[in-house]
Amino acid sequence: MNTNSLDTRLEDIQTALKQKGYRLTSSRQTIVEALLTCGGHITADGLLEVVHEIDQTVGRMTVYRTLELLSELGLIRPVYQGTGAAHYILLDRGHHHHLICSGCDAVIEFEECGLQEMGQLLAERFNFMVEGHLVEFYGRCQNCQ
Ligand SMILES: [Zn+2]
Ligand SMILES: [Zn+2]
Ligand SMILES: [Zn+2]
Repeated sequence: MNTNSLDTRLEDIQTALKQKGYRLTSSRQTIVEALLTCGGHITADGLLEVVHEIDQTVGRMTVYRTLELLSELGLIRPVYQGTGAAHYILLDRGHHHHLICSGCDAVIEFEECGLQEMGQLLAERFNFMVEGHLVEFYGRCQNCQ
């Protein structure tokens, strides 16, 4: 599903950080690697566990702050479902798309994107600098119809 290799994606994130004047410190690199390896869709605490499998010395606050930084840079997005903790979603080249079943909570990923044009229209209309989008369609999956 992910067309980019782990290394390419790590490089993309490294470049994005550098452009904004941030360094990819070794703890940040570990956190980003953990995030890419598990493919996102993970809470901060879930990610902390994955990070600790790689490096026990990375602290919880570093994980939280790095997630905040990556969100600010538009590389990931927190998603709030119900009352639980936020899940972090990777924005692959600035976008991510879901179909979500209200019956069984299944999440189906899809790559097709017809929204770039709409982004441009909205950008002009609201004088808004669009950096990405996360789209979720809600409905019923085949089994739940
Ligand atoms: Zn369903
Ligand atoms: Zn997803
Ligand atoms: Zn898209």
